[in-house]
Amino acid sequence: VTPGSALLPTSAGGVYLYPGEFEAIVHGLGSAASALSPDPRNSLVSPPVIARSVIERAGYAKSFPHLLGTVLTRSPGGTADEPDIVLLPAACYCVYALYEGARLEAPAELSVGATCFRHEATTEQGRLRSFRMREFVLLGTEEHCRPWRDTRLAAVRDWLASLGLETDRAVASDPFFGSENRLLKALQAEEQLKIELLTEVGDGHVQAVASGNYHKDQFGRVFGISDGSGAVAHTACVALGYERLALALLHRHGPDLRSWPGHVRKTLGLEEALG
Ligand code: 5GP
Ligand code: ZN
Repeated sequence: VTPGSALLPTSAGGVYLYPGEFEAIVHGLGSAASALSPDPRNSLVSPPVIARSVIERAGYAKSFPHLLGTVLTRSPGGTADEPDIVLLPAACYCVYALYEGARLEAPAELSVGATCFRHEATTEQGRLRSFRMREFVLLGTEEHCRPWRDTRLAAVRDWLASLGLETDRAVASDPFFGSENRLLKALQAEEQLKIELLTEVGDGHVQAVASGNYHKDQFGRVFGISDGSGAVAHTACVALGYERLALALLHRHGPDLRSWPGHVRKTLGLEEALG
């Protein structure tokens, strides 16, 4: 096998190996995306597991039992046991848990990166079960959160356009609230709580490469976070999916990274990475 720039499938559907050239794109995206974040000191990386209690309290386990990956361990005697951790389904959950009980004197903005897992039923192009996500998260008041989400997402959209990726902005239903419920789904769409940036990641395959979510006070309530006035904090997040972005760039500019436009190579640091 000679790894090129494309994802390498494995015997597990939706699970891929990353060749060095693919990884150079992901790495370049990661460094370049840091410019979208206000303060590099406010950045975190999460391991791929999180306390089960956080995911249960946040409502994910109830809304998406079929997507959640759990961990199975065994006692020394061999008895099966589900320990206190699960696989992380989205990067931002660890931030709300980190701020549990906090009172925010000013809005807090953080960036968090993680390998996420969702037990997706399908394996079309761009649908991975294990994938990496970078999120920007804001904890603040109602007045801060929605406008922040919209400005951050607009900045991401402009940034992607500068890399040659034109995206469509579309209202979606929000997994944070459970998109299985049709009525709830319609209400969320009406309130525009989730906005996605869509682009082609392969011939005829359009996927969300980024999304912006406004959770209202859902996580503030669950984790007891308050704003400067003592009211329940609101939260918002903007997520980038690294593999989908890399796939979209490969689809747009071709499999030979050396023939990509100079400014894209420069922004992603591909010259240094690949020579
Ligand atoms: P969300 O929490 O909005 O569903 O996901 C955030 C971002 O993670 C999406 O915009 C997308 O870029 C990425 N993502 C979500 N699901 C998948 C998936 O099944 N495969 C891959 N490769 N990326 C995903
Ligand atoms: Zn998020």
